[in-house]
This record gives sequence, C-alpha cells and structure tokens, in this order.
Amino acid sequence: MFIRELLKQKRFTLSFEFFPPKREGNLENLFATIQELADLQPDFISVTYGAGGSTREKSLEIASRVKKEIRMEVLAHLTCVQSTKDDIARILEAFRAENIENILALRGDPPTGTEKFITPEGGFSHASDLVGFINGMDFFSIGVAGSPEGHIEAPSLEEDIKNLKRKVDAGADFIITQLFFDNSYFYRFRDRTQALGINIPILPGVFPILNYKQVERIAGLCGASIPQTLANKIEKVRDKNEEVEKYGIEYAVLQTEDLIKNSAAGIHIYSMNRSEPVQRILKELTLPRLQPSSPAGQDRL
Ligand SMILES: Cc1cc2nc3c(=O)[nH]c(=O)nc-3n(C[C@H](O)[C@H](O)[C@H](O)COP(=O)(O)OP(=O)(O)OC[C@H]3O[C@@H](n4cnc5c(N)ncnc54)[C@H](O)[C@@H]3O)c2cc1C
Repeated sequence: MFIRELLKQKRFTLSFEFFPPKREGNLENLFATIQELADLQPDFISVTYGAGGSTREKSLEIASRVKKEIRMEVLAHLTCVQSTKDDIARILEAFRAENIENILALRGDPPTGTEKFITPEGGFSHASDLVGFINGMDFFSIGVAGSPEGHIEAPSLEEDIKNLKRKVDAGADFIITQLFFDNSYFYRFRDRTQALGINIPILPGVFPILNYKQVERIAGLCGASIPQTLANKIEKVRDKNEEVEKYGIEYAVLQTEDLIKNSAAGIHIYSMNRSEPVQRILKELTLPRLQPSSPAGQDRL
C-alpha cells in the first residue's frame, strides 16, 4: 500500500526503522527482531540504504522479505551516493519488481573518509532531483528527510526549509524527520514548513538513547542538540549501560507523549535493530490510533 494513502486513512501512524547488518549471519537475527515487533502492529517498516557495497543489496532483500514473509508495509530508503541515473533506475526497477511501493528519497551522507558530498558523474546532486526522477516513474509513494534543527550543511533553517519545499514540489508525499531530543525544535520546524506552504504529513523521528557513545556520535553526525538536563543525567551514568538505556527509554516515552499531545501525525522509531527497547517504550504509551485528536500546542515538552 502507498504510505501516502495510509497517512490519509490513519490519524496516527507507527513505524520502525532498521538497517542491514554488516555481517551476513546477523540477517536472520534481524528478521527475528522485526517479527517480534510485528506484534505491535506498526503501519510500516523502513529499511536504510548503506553507503555502498553489500549492505545495499541487503536493503532490497530485507525490504522484499519483510513485505512477502512478514507481510508488513515497507519503506525502502535510497540515496544518490555513488550512483548514476542509470544505476538508480536499475535499483528502482528492482524495488518495483518486488512490489516495494514506497521509497524514502535521500541525497545521502558523504561516504566514510570523505567530508563533502560529491555529485556522482551522471548522478544527482540533491534529494529533490531524486524525488523528481522517482516521481516520473509514477509507481512509488515518496518520502523525504526533514531536519527540525536544520541540516548540518545548510546555512540556516530557513534555507533548509526552502530546499525541503523543492522536494515537496518535486513530488514528495510525506516527511520523516531527523532525530531530535528537544521537541520545541520539531514544533518550530512544523510551524515554519506550514508557513512556507508545505502541507504534507511530517512524521517525527524518535531515537531512544541506548548507550553513551551514541550520544556523542549523533551530535557530531546530524548536529542534534541535547538538552542540558538530558546530557547531565546521561553523563552521570555514562559507564553503566543499563542505566543509560533505562533513562534513554524513559526520555523517549516522555518525548513521544508530548508529541502525541501536540498532534503529531505519527512516530517513526529508530530501532537500532533492537526489539526490547521499542517494546518497553510502547508499553508505556497509549497511541492515539483510535482516539480523537487533541488541540495542537498544549503541554509542550
Ligand atoms: C529519516 C531519515 C532516514 C535516513 N536514511 C538514510 C539512509 O538510509 N542512508 C543514508 O546514507 N542516509 C540516510 N539519512 C541521512 C541523509 O542521507 C543525510 O541527512 C544527508 O546528509 C542529507 O540527505 P537529504 O535527503 O536530506 O538531502 P537534501 O535534501 O539534498 O539536503 C542536503 C543539503 O543540501 C541542501 N540542498 C538541498 N537542495 C538544494 C539545492 N537545490 N540547492 C542548494 N542546496 C540544497 C539542503 O539544505 C541540505 O543542507 C537519513 C536521514 C533521515 C532524516
């Protein structure tokens, strides 16, 4: 099913993100994890697309098996990194052949060891180019990335939202955000996108912190700010993984409760390929799947 249709039908969606494991043997573990989370009835599962090599082929395999064997809707990520238009066309044909109907169209990060994204010869420079190309095939529902704090390379949030608008104008149906820990950035982003005439659903990306190292890595990678209270609390227990995870889960619950109160269109949980933390988060929440919506703007975190 097209996610754009799903989003029209549902007042609130739940989705989980997974990445292809580096080691071949871990693939079956991943399917077991996805199967465990199937009981929570997510509306779709998303599968990331690696920077290159064998994990890219695994993305297709995972997406296809989730759809066929676990019978869940799938969103396959795709990037412009190191691919010509012909490469991209071939990959999209392969997705189409497996009846994968939803693509998250991304530019991609510079490959490891390089600092700047370089447009591949005969390839695309921006995610908006990829969106336009996919839209031309008239087969897929298309999602794109949004950055509540502005993309790390963008000169300003305003410029970044203008570039987001290019993706929407090129045919994007929905937005999934980069992770953030301070909901006020999400609400500001949502207000500004609307002010610029972006009216497609925005799904906030919720990232439960599960260990201390992640915090440092994330802040460096996507520039997400970490509120002082959260940083202090994690810092205090930095060497005790269980404590970090416990607090990370509690924080994700609080963040999501606040997003629900403020009429988010759904939540997209970065699962880090683990089922237990996701299950613990959802056990604490009542998702508004069947509830009437509450007025936006109340009780913000
Ligand atoms: C939900 C989600 C899932 C992700 N999944 C993956 C994944 O599976 N694999 C992966 O490698 N990465 C993934 N990423 C990371 C993503 O690839 C990076 O954030 C990347 O740096 C930017 O991708 P984008 O699609 O936002 O690019 P773009 O929308 O192209 O934006 C990149 C930068 O270029 C600027 N820009 C855009 N268009 C123009 C223009 N016309 N002129 C000038 N500047 C412009 C933007 O403001 C921004 O600063 C994901 C990110 C998110 C939020």
